[in-house]
Amino acid sequence: MHSFEFERPTSVDEAVALFKQHGDNARALAGGTDLIVQMRIGRRTPGVVVDMKHIPEVSQITWDPESGLTVGASVPSHELYNNRDVRDQYRGLIDSVEMIGGTPIQGRASVGGNLCNAAPSADGIPALIALGAVCNIAGPDGGRELPVEQFCTAPGQNAMADNEFLVSLFLPKPAENSGARYIRFIPRNEMDIAVAGAGVSVVLENGNFKSARVALASVAPTPLFVEAAGSALAGKPVNDESIQAAADAAKAAATPISDMRGTVEYRKHLCEVLTRRALNDAVARARG
Ligand SMILES: Cc1cc2nc3c(=O)[nH]c(=O)nc-3n(C[C@H](O)[C@H](O)[C@H](O)COP(=O)(O)OP(=O)(O)OC[C@H]3O[C@@H](n4cnc5c(N)ncnc54)[C@H](O)[C@@H]3O)c2cc1C
Repeated sequence: MHSFEFERPTSVDEAVALFKQHGDNARALAGGTDLIVQMRIGRRTPGVVVDMKHIPEVSQITWDPESGLTVGASVPSHELYNNRDVRDQYRGLIDSVEMIGGTPIQGRASVGGNLCNAAPSADGIPALIALGAVCNIAGPDGGRELPVEQFCTAPGQNAMADNEFLVSLFLPKPAENSGARYIRFIPRNEMDIAVAGAGVSVVLENGNFKSARVALASVAPTPLFVEAAGSALAGKPVNDESIQAAADAAKAAATPISDMRGTVEYRKHLCEVLTRRALNDAVARARG
């Protein structure tokens, strides 16, 4: 691996100053399960690696029963699924972080790093989109917020400038009678990239869908927010016909490629199947 400087800021302000000074020559480090691999093969060659894990706002989980959950960008998966509040309130997110890599990877891999890496196949991102998560971004001009569905701009690219970084993710408190689910298809039990994935959330009211959000993995250049699938459900009765209409909308929105993991046709078919199954599971969770 190439030589690089290593910085370990302990405050957001210190990190802002470092990224302002070094710009695109600096790279944030969370768990390193993407970054170190990419540096070893020369895909990324930062001159300065900035370890974010000693900045309190970037490394903590904060649950506010009134407003919701704030997850620091470098919080590893295992801290999320071992946190009682997160398990109780955000089961769709737990679905995804429990399937990233395996146990050793989950000891390090963060959902913030998963998002910033911006892989179309990232398992954490559809769940974040479905749950309405918002990015808290810091930079030299102060902080700004961005919905997760607007964050990924192309494979491996995101909407942050070179001198910005992700501080945390905010997930609003789940509504009454709501449920969420993330599922993916891989040809084996674990340690593989999703052929396709579906993250959904639903809110139920008097036997109808009050609202719903659907997002897909691995079927477009970025994780895909399928607004049409949520719209197909809003105000409709909770039954197979409504869910099928949403699953069909997800299939129609997908623009996958054919590769060694699956063809376009196969992936589009998976979008329909996974969306339907995830919605049925989310409804079951919403009903308790
Ligand atoms: C064996 C193995 C199996 C895997 N399996 C899966 C899987 O099943 N599903 C899946 O989705 N992924 C998988 N991954 C990929 C990886 O583990 C995840 O993407 C992980 O969540 C990345 O988090 P991290 O904390 O390790 O990020 P890092 O590697 O530290 O960072 C990832 C990227 O985000 C940037 N970054 C990190 N923090 C910030 C910040 N605060 N601000 C700005 N940029 C930042 C980094 O510069 C880097 O570009 C696997 C990886 C390995 C090695």
